[in-house]
Amino acid sequence: MIKLNTLVEFGIKLVLAAGSAFFLYRDARARDYSWLMWVILCALIIFTPGLIGALFSLLLIFAIYYSTRPKGELKPCPHCKKRVHHILAFCPFCKRSVKRECLRCHETVDWDAVVCPHCRSTNLTDS
Ligand SMILES: [Zn+2]
Ligand SMILES: [Zn+2]
Repeated sequence: MIKLNTLVEFGIKLVLAAGSAFFLYRDARARDYSWLMWVILCALIIFTPGLIGALFSLLLIFAIYYSTRPKGELKPCPHCKKRVHHILAFCPFCKRSVKRECLRCHETVDWDAVVCPHCRSTNLTDS
């Protein structure tokens, strides 16, 4: 017979794993980082023996995630409004372009820019 304690412990681990996986999935996807690996790592904590062990593993996963993820701020996508990493040219969620291109010097320009910061041209692509 399965003991109640084991069941409760399993339930807590499940909630912890699911919550962390969801959080890391959202953040990693916005940064175009390998989200699948982090979701799998979170799921693995269910099999860690003991609640303390699981919590410790989770802490380790978060520490590694935060030190290896692409740094920089997230900006809302002009199309789907989801937050995406500022260096990306395409939104990882709706796949649309989040940067404009200058038609004179061919540099990428921020979506809300009116003038190219490189050559001062106002001839920018619309999408
Ligand atoms: Zn988008
Ligand atoms: Zn330009």
